[in-house]
Amino acid sequence: MSDPVKTDVLIVGAGPVGLFAVFELGLLDIKAHLVDILDKVGGQCAELYPEKPIYDIPGIPVCSAQGLIDALMQQIKPFNPQFHLGEMVEGIERTGHPGFRVTTDGGRVFDAKVIAVAAGGGSFQPKRPPIPGIEAYETKSVYYEVRKMEAFRGKKILIVGGGDSALDWTLNLAPIASHLTLLHRRQDFRAAPDSVNKMTALVGEGKIDFVLGQVTGLEGAGGQLNAVNVKRNDGSTFHIACDAMLPFFGLTMKLGPVANWGLNLDKELIPVNTADFETSEPGIFAIGDINTYPGKLKLILSGFHEAALMAQKAHRYVYPDKKLTFQYTTSSTSLQKKLGVG
Ligand SMILES: Cc1cc2nc3c(=O)[nH]c(=O)nc-3n(C[C@H](O)[C@H](O)[C@H](O)COP(=O)(O)OP(=O)(O)OC[C@H]3O[C@@H](n4cnc5c(N)ncnc54)[C@H](O)[C@@H]3O)c2cc1C
Repeated sequence: MSDPVKTDVLIVGAGPVGLFAVFELGLLDIKAHLVDILDKVGGQCAELYPEKPIYDIPGIPVCSAQGLIDALMQQIKPFNPQFHLGEMVEGIERTGHPGFRVTTDGGRVFDAKVIAVAAGGGSFQPKRPPIPGIEAYETKSVYYEVRKMEAFRGKKILIVGGGDSALDWTLNLAPIASHLTLLHRRQDFRAAPDSVNKMTALVGEGKIDFVLGQVTGLEGAGGQLNAVNVKRNDGSTFHIACDAMLPFFGLTMKLGPVANWGLNLDKELIPVNTADFETSEPGIFAIGDINTYPGKLKLILSGFHEAALMAQKAHRYVYPDKKLTFQYTTSSTSLQKKLGVG
């Protein structure tokens, strides 16, 4: 376990709402660290619909979901937020009034005065393909993510799927695999056209195989795959020899460890009061899609409003002796100085 990282606020989740919380906290001189399970910031916007247009962000007639995340990252830069990506917040324990110790599955420890849970729909988890007995192979020779590419060097790899993850990993792992096959049930892909073109070029050069069909069974022993059984669309079957299979069938969202933090829950959401978005536990706030209250709308703009009010109350925990004076960024020279524009 590492030495505790000390921070004013620990934000659980680096989706759009967690990111904007950094801005609202920063204006009040409150420092934040953010933890996210994903290996990138942006939550649902970056993971589920990066190229889709969003039309209901106030003052921005249209932007892509990834464009919004990029703009938020630019906006919070003056506050130098610290990101801990690829880690899941597992435990939260009270150490004082205020004060919490937060632990992640990566062994990182934080001591925070305030916690802002911006965990959206919870943790993204890979969808398991409906293949009998697949559980016995998971983490031994069936993987839903690539944590270390080197682990796949020299292997006969089978990648299953037709989205961005399947295509990206096909392109990245092809140079280090002893042999790589991409299997998809149809000829069209949901991935970026450029990736599809690059994959097709590799097939043309004989560097990888592309096969149409679906996995119906696994062959191996003790969790180690030797081959998979594949059914073609015309009903005929064949085998593909492989020692690692990577199925990329998309992600679902599960509440995950949020359920174990001693907070009141209502149908997998965290009830909050609408004055400051504090939960049943003083010093722990819930903002964005993860919270519930009468009239809640799961919209990014609602989460932005919630982040602003959360920051005002967080200030009382972080600076109990300081009076907070409300100021506009347009007219306050001290706020402009913090933003690096004054
Ligand atoms: C297809 C689609 C289109 C949409 N279109 C719009 C639109 O046009 N306009 C609009 O306003 N909204 C839209 N939404 C909804 C919008 O994306 C959500 O309201 C918004 O993403 C919520 O932001 P958030 O930061 O609360 O949560 P999320 O974006 O869900 O981010 C939460 C983050 O928390 C992380 N996390 C969860 N648990 C933990 C944990 N224990 N430890 C560490 N990290 C954790 C997750 O990995 C995730 O990255 C759309 C949603 C979808 C799916």
